[in-house]
Amino acid sequence: MVDASKVKQNIAKMTSKARGSLGSGKVQPHKHCRVCFTMIKLSAEPRVCGDQACIDKNARDERNQKQMRIWMFVFLGLFAFSFVGPIILRSVV
Ligand SMILES: [Zn+2]
Repeated sequence: MVDASKVKQNIAKMTSKARGSLGSGKVQPHKHCRVCFTMIKLSAEPRVCGDQACIDKNARDERNQKQMRIWMFVFLGLFAFSFVGPIILRSVV
């Protein structure tokens, strides 16, 4: 048979331990460099370390991402129009 009070005690011990490890964790809130994953300040913006190589790479990546997003929108727009266009045209005529 399971001793209910013992189980309760164990759970209390576990939760207190978990809370303790969380509370005593001396890790300050921080971010990591997007490129090399070095720890950086929380306020660092853009999210890269001071390394020029990382700054360059981040800028390049961001430009690529922006371009990708534009193309996605264009394709999505075309895709949507191929569906919606005929319906609209039919309803107008
Ligand atoms: Zn870096």
